[in-house]
Amino acid sequence: MKRIMSFLLSTALLAGCAAGTSAPLIGISCGRSDSGMDRLSETYPNAVLAGGGLPVIFPTVQDEETARDLIARVDGILFSGGPDFDPALYGEEIWNETVSIDAVRDKSDLLLAKAALESGKPILAICRGEQLMNVALGGSLIQDIPTQVPDSLVHAGGALHRIAVEKGSALYRIFGKDSLTVNSYHHQAVKRPGEGITITARADDGVVEAFEKGPVLAVQFHPEKSVETEPEWTLLFKDLADRARKDRGRK
Ligand code: MN
Repeated sequence: MKRIMSFLLSTALLAGCAAGTSAPLIGISCGRSDSGMDRLSETYPNAVLAGGGLPVIFPTVQDEETARDLIARVDGILFSGGPDFDPALYGEEIWNETVSIDAVRDKSDLLLAKAALESGKPILAICRGEQLMNVALGGSLIQDIPTQVPDSLVHAGGALHRIAVEKGSALYRIFGKDSLTVNSYHHQAVKRPGEGITITARADDGVVEAFEKGPVLAVQFHPEKSVETEPEWTLLFKDLADRARKDRGRK
């Protein structure tokens, strides 16, 4: 484990050295502790580094101007995982006691999402990040898969399950496979897709596991958790860094 990590770090450092300060700057949205501390698992910045990007963690923001200014400074955006969205944001009541909300993070994430979508910059959205993209684009969520999806697979606690990937999708282009085995740490998922979204992967129970819209690639699983043990997952972060580098070159 340690050896793989140091290999990944040296790969990242080499990539960083080769790219110098020109490595694309990837802003990552953070979570919050109960006492209001900004926090983020190191797996996110480590995965960005392994993919050749330079990570920077966004603080929790509460006003539009700050969100826009932060987005303007980065070349790409990674929206991280976390708790559930307030269902009121997509016009529903709370379904049951499993729904766990952080209103401050909801506001911060939606401000950053709006600014990011308006910027047209490359986005990789993971788990709650995927759900964020859907809500920001006017979609709704299944609030609790076990009680709302008949005969659902186990999606919680790091369970592994297969997903079927649409040919012609970015996900297919990146991995070259129409079937992937992914980890699963969620009890919510896309219900009504937001405007312009193309669903590109589903689990065998029909649960949405990935979608795309323009520069947005959104996945319900956690590739950053697997980068260390299965380096193939680095490809998603390399794709984000490559898109961010290209996008910057266009301006
Ligand atoms: Mn899943």
